Amino acid sequence: MEQKSIVSLRNINVKFDGEVILNNIDLDIEDKEFITLLGPSGCGKTTTLRIIGGFLEPDSGDVCYEGKRINGTPPNKRNVNTVFQKYALFPHLNVFDNVAFGLKLKKLPKNEIKEKVKKMLAIVDLKGYEKRSVSKLSGGQQQRVAIARALVCDPDILLLDEPLGALDLKLRKDMQIELKNIQKMTKKTFVYVTHDQEEALTMSDRVVVMNNGKIEQIGSPIDIYNEPANAFVADFIGEANILDGTMLSDYRVRVLGSELKCVDKGFGENTPVDIVIRPEDIEITSPEDGTITGDVVGVVFKGVHYEMEVKTGGCLLLIHSTVSSPVGSRIGMRVDPYNIHIMNKLFPTAYNEFEAEVVSSSEDSPTVTVSIEGNEIELENGYYPKGTKLRIQLPPDGLHIAGDGVGQLTDVFIESVIWKGAYNEIILESDEQKWLMQSAQDEQVATYVPICFDFSKAVISPAEDSTEDSDEI
Ligand code: ATP
Repeated sequence: MEQKSIVSLRNINVKFDGEVILNNIDLDIEDKEFITLLGPSGCGKTTTLRIIGGFLEPDSGDVCYEGKRINGTPPNKRNVNTVFQKYALFPHLNVFDNVAFGLKLKKLPKNEIKEKVKKMLAIVDLKGYEKRSVSKLSGGQQQRVAIARALVCDPDILLLDEPLGALDLKLRKDMQIELKNIQKMTKKTFVYVTHDQEEALTMSDRVVVMNNGKIEQIGSPIDIYNEPANAFVADFIGEANILDGTMLSDYRVRVLGSELKCVDKGFGENTPVDIVIRPEDIEITSPEDGTITGDVVGVVFKGVHYEMEVKTGGCLLLIHSTVSSPVGSRIGMRVDPYNIHIMNKLFPTAYNEFEAEVVSSSEDSPTVTVSIEGNEIELENGYYPKGTKLRIQLPPDGLHIAGDGVGQLTDVFIESVIWKGAYNEIILESDEQKWLMQSAQDEQVATYVPICFDFSKAVISPAEDSTEDSDEI
């Protein structure tokens, strides 16, 4: 049966202060589903929610309600209500009056208000709490009052912005189950925002994984866990070993120095890929029986399973297993082909490739200064005449974040940081291009950093369309 979309976002773009906050968002929200916008802080979840609620107008794109464009319709004319992390209850009113507030504004008859509030309090498990002062309730109870107040006016859609964020872990887990039950009982569309992946997986019919103002993947919790679209999603959802590999041909991949069977095809031959293997999908065997061998360097008992760190080649693998081997032992490992997930790399090439024009040079020293995004930067070796356009290939370890804060390019945005078992693969974005960097250090995503180039690691040659009289000496 075809699902009916209640809200559709089409090519939504938003900029704040010149920064792209939402980048071509396309999303169909089905009637009566529990859908969660999930992603790291600052990725644009709340902005998307505010657009659905009518609190913010996109710079471009269409917001549709049951197929009709509703851009410009104010929040109170949309059949939508919102629950925030801060409950925003009226502290001087009791539970009943807080929940009844919207109904009184609508001037409904007293009896009807009483009946609706009673019914709603039963749904949120606060039967008999009518006369209590909200300021004397626990955090979880206050949040239930806020949910009852939002639902009692019978909106088609409830928008929930990190509503459980202020609660302690145990209460949050209880409330997750309750919220899902409330959604089922009331048969409303819930659009939920969180940066907590476990919360998203527990409650949602579908999860929308967002990063840097873009949607990376939309799918059921099982789909996004088992079939992540790329390394970002795999890293964000659950624990994962994300490794560099090469697709040798259809169904054959090289990873960790071994050639393994997999179930993927269509990547071409000898194509660099990202490979995801979940920790629970690595089976421990004797060294002779494994397709990969490694040395156990760490074991922690986690209650249900052991968490083991195993060194193989230069990589550390994370394994979750109900059996363990002691630190220092050599083990074999096997992975079912079905559990080896192959993905296109987030960065399309293995090198940074760019062109830069020589703005000054000295044949004697010899030094060359090039312009990169308007910054004059000295190359460490070689000589090319002024005006020469150079093609520069810089490997990922030829880029550094300037520890002293003084970079050759400043305000470079960290788009993603993925641990590859031996180093962090970091993708950055400057004004004009993206950069691939390798670093042993962890860096904070969605921050701006200064970067430096190590041109001693670069391959530099005149670009093909460079001035004819410019050649290397
Ligand atoms: P969080 O989980 O931290 O709430 P989020 O994914 O909900 O993050 P948004 O609140 O949508 O993120 O914000 C996305 C980006 O837009 C952030 O960088 C934020 O600083 C910026 N931003 C949001 N609102 C404004 C505004 N009114 N003016 C300028 N920048 C804004």
